[in-house]
Amino acid sequence: MATPRLPPLPSIRDLLRLYRLRAVQQLSQNFLLDAGVCARLARAAGPLRDAHVCEVGPGPGSVTRAILAQRPAGVTLVEKDTRFLPALLMLREAAQPCPVRIVAGDVLLYDMEAAFPVSPTPWEEPCTSAYILGNLPFSISTPLVVRWLRDVSRRQGAWKHGRVRMALTFQKEVAERLAAEAGGEQRCRLSVVAQAFCQVQHRFTLGGHVFTPRPDVDVGVVVLTPLREPRVDVPFETLEKVARGLFNMRQKSILRGTQTLYPEPVRRQLAADTLRLAELDPACRPFQLTVEEVGRLSRAYLDICSVHPQLAQYEYRVHGKHGGLDLAQGVSL
Ligand code: SAM
Repeated sequence: MATPRLPPLPSIRDLLRLYRLRAVQQLSQNFLLDAGVCARLARAAGPLRDAHVCEVGPGPGSVTRAILAQRPAGVTLVEKDTRFLPALLMLREAAQPCPVRIVAGDVLLYDMEAAFPVSPTPWEEPCTSAYILGNLPFSISTPLVVRWLRDVSRRQGAWKHGRVRMALTFQKEVAERLAAEAGGEQRCRLSVVAQAFCQVQHRFTLGGHVFTPRPDVDVGVVVLTPLREPRVDVPFETLEKVARGLFNMRQKSILRGTQTLYPEPVRRQLAADTLRLAELDPACRPFQLTVEEVGRLSRAYLDICSVHPQLAQYEYRVHGKHGGLDLAQGVSL
């Protein structure tokens, strides 16, 4: 089927020139001007025909054009930089009758539930016809995806609507980390928490040369599909805390990483207990663990904290190696 065309519009390059839109470094602005590349990104998560799409950071609208060319049912655009408003308003006009909603604001403050005017699809059913797409600003891509993974795990925000897929760009190394399997060199906290709640596919890589201005790094396009059943049975925060503890000591054994979950002087004993409960070999390295194994470790940590609830307050980053002694008081070994 031929790709439908929007009415004639100035080229994105002309728009940038017309409105003197120079990339702002703080907003990680690296524009995609090649229509073929934009179409590839727009198609990455699935067919958008009759779908509802929320695009984060549309900028002057090149990816938006590729989205609209697929004839979605509606589009929401969330853009922080108001200099792009005239270009986006022009695009909205050209897109009629497809409704295009423009949200001028920070996506970190935006309630993603409002992005989709669709009724919820039960979680067990196939993915919804709603998608989140974005050539994301590098400066916020990791905190944003961590926040969205937490929302997926709680089925809140955009995921109140059901299993909403995402196709997002990251620095290539971050994309590789998100998708890294157990045993891989890039395996890290992000791999574990992402794969616990989503199927993660590093679909393709875009060379830095396709962006204007050219970033110092290549860019990976990652598709995240929320899983019907998470691979762990612990809350997101617990999994994240345990994974952080492990990977803070990534070159050491998991015994050392697990010790960072507890204060002195109970650290060694409780870490050994946790690993025994989780049935894990203390000599393993963090990158060798599967998502399910980190889940078991997290469950064992929760079990120990349920006996001594004050232990859950211990944070290695906050209290340090020698702090939080008071939290260990009354813990009988
Ligand atoms: N989509 C355009 C493209 O591919 O050419 C622009 C992509 S550029 C990498 C990132 C875009 O995100 C910019 O338009 C920037 O202004 C916008 N942006 C940066 N931080 C943002 C935030 N916190 N909330 C919403 N948009 C943001």
